[in-house]
Amino acid sequence: MKPPFYNCFKMKKSVFISLLAALTVFSVRSYPQANPFIPLNVKKANSSGTRSVSGMPGPNYWQNHSKYTIRAELFPDSSKLKGREEVVYFNESPDSLKNIVLRLYPDIYKKGNARSWPLNPNAVREGMVIEKLSINGEDIDLANRKSATRSATNLYVHLNSPLLPGDSLEVHAEWHFHVSETSPVRMGNYGDNHFFIAYWYPQMAVYDDIDGLDKVEYLGTVEFYNDFSDYNVIVTLPGNYIVWATGSLNNRKELFNRQILKRLEKAKTGDEVIPIFTSEESRKGKVLKSKEVKNSWHYTATGVPDFTFAAAPDFNWDASSVMVDSATGRRVFVDAIYPDSTRTFADAAKASRESIEYFSYQMPKWAFPYPHITAFCNGRQGGGMESPMMTNDGDPSNSRWLYGLLAHENAHSYFPFYMGTNERKYAWMDEGWAVYLITDFLKEKFPDYDYAGRGVHSFEQMNGQEKEPNLMTLSYTISDYSAYRYHAYTRPGLAYAYLRDALGDSIFLKALDTYIARWHGKHPLPYDFFNTFSYVEGRPLFWFFKSWFYGPARADLGIKKLTMNNEIVIENYGGLPLPVVVTCTFKDGTTETYSQSVAVWSSGQQAVIVQADQSKKIKEIVLGDGKIPDINTTNNEMKLNEE
Ligand SMILES: [Zn+2]
Repeated sequence: MKPPFYNCFKMKKSVFISLLAALTVFSVRSYPQANPFIPLNVKKANSSGTRSVSGMPGPNYWQNHSKYTIRAELFPDSSKLKGREEVVYFNESPDSLKNIVLRLYPDIYKKGNARSWPLNPNAVREGMVIEKLSINGEDIDLANRKSATRSATNLYVHLNSPLLPGDSLEVHAEWHFHVSETSPVRMGNYGDNHFFIAYWYPQMAVYDDIDGLDKVEYLGTVEFYNDFSDYNVIVTLPGNYIVWATGSLNNRKELFNRQILKRLEKAKTGDEVIPIFTSEESRKGKVLKSKEVKNSWHYTATGVPDFTFAAAPDFNWDASSVMVDSATGRRVFVDAIYPDSTRTFADAAKASRESIEYFSYQMPKWAFPYPHITAFCNGRQGGGMESPMMTNDGDPSNSRWLYGLLAHENAHSYFPFYMGTNERKYAWMDEGWAVYLITDFLKEKFPDYDYAGRGVHSFEQMNGQEKEPNLMTLSYTISDYSAYRYHAYTRPGLAYAYLRDALGDSIFLKALDTYIARWHGKHPLPYDFFNTFSYVEGRPLFWFFKSWFYGPARADLGIKKLTMNNEIVIENYGGLPLPVVVTCTFKDGTTETYSQSVAVWSSGQQAVIVQADQSKKIKEIVLGDGKIPDINTTNNEMKLNEE
């Protein structure tokens, strides 16, 4: 362990004053460098070899998965979805499972259920009606609590005989539910026969090495934590509907006419955005070859954490593609589907395409991991919702909102869909990245749009307040929505930005690359992220993670004093590592700005010294640059009296 010391810096001349001399002057606080807060269940994962202290998956890492075969029919007139599924669930764990959990998400609409926010009273109905359920061919009596119990949105099935390690079981379920028109929560009937269907089938809850069975209920706020599974899905709709979904459409040649297929091929190989069809072509029946009363759309996807689909009879469909891997020439199909009433979605395919290119080559500099990404416009204002290969977006009112929304939802393709993070416990592991990854993209695209500044402003509103949660608080335990937003989006978005500042671009990108390489298709924990970044940096980064992720720590740097030798002592009153920017105005009218990255706090010290030019007399000192958060600016200025 290193002795504590002060960092002293001067940007322009790199003059460092003696550390020993500084030590004699100031009191020093040091942090332990290893993380003392590793929970016992995580330590157990390290000792049993499913995880490792270097941040790599351990030699005994395992995860379970399923193969879903689903047939569903959507009835637009009655807004009803009816489905049946066969799920083969594989137990790769070393444990014998006595119970499984089926998540019944539509139960969020069930009368009497708990919810994160109130619904329109008309939306409250019967939830998901399970018509039939069997395990390995044996019917389950849902009225018998010995075989099944139902909580808010979870259905616990108590197995007759345990599911042994290495074995699989087969679930058969038949169900129906009402697709809400009045309170679409992340999915629904958006009116005018426009549907986005997500959270819609009985889904196997994750069983993992940390908690065993995931029992967190879906109340509206916390979202994904899914296994990587295979989907074979056939959805049936009236013959005038088009269906877009996760995965690839297997029967496209039976469904679309030749002209549409030709346009699709063109979009798949070219950079240009082209209309696959217009709403008018769709309405006039010029899109589909099939003239059946109903059509079945057959989609398949492998190794994905979820499956969603969209349907409409009168949408516009624009598409393009983008090469995401110059070594292999792999292209991603990028498309947008939207109603005539849209304000900005005519530019959505272009905006989406630009974000995919940015992610693939600049940040996180990893080829976009899915074969397509489809942006659905639900026509509502604000917000959006991600799912693998499909995003359910509002209708942004201007270009910067459009670019911001699509880039954010597309960023989720990496976190949490490619990296199977647990959003129910650690929402900052995906929302924070979705906030941060698009910062430079938006800055390049809209220089006048202060996206980063909005994040800083939101941070300052909550930092230091009574209801501020720290990031390591489990997300599903936070019921206050503004506190949740801060925890999931605002604070982690800034934390990632300052982690980059601390490490420098090249180490940050290398660490991010290593983290993705190690954990894509798996379930990383916060500790796997901390450990991987520390591993790549070559030393513990706990000095950073402690304050930013565990807290409490406030953004409050202040000017403590000026010495006779023009040493400006900057105190970290709030304890949060932040960049230090100091501007000195001298009595001769000249000014100099001294700046240092977040790394200046890496020894855990409480103060740093800025050595200003000793040959001049200082008139005024200003700390900060207006971009660095600071919740107490009363100590950011020092004016020197005339002598
Ligand atoms: Zn998000």
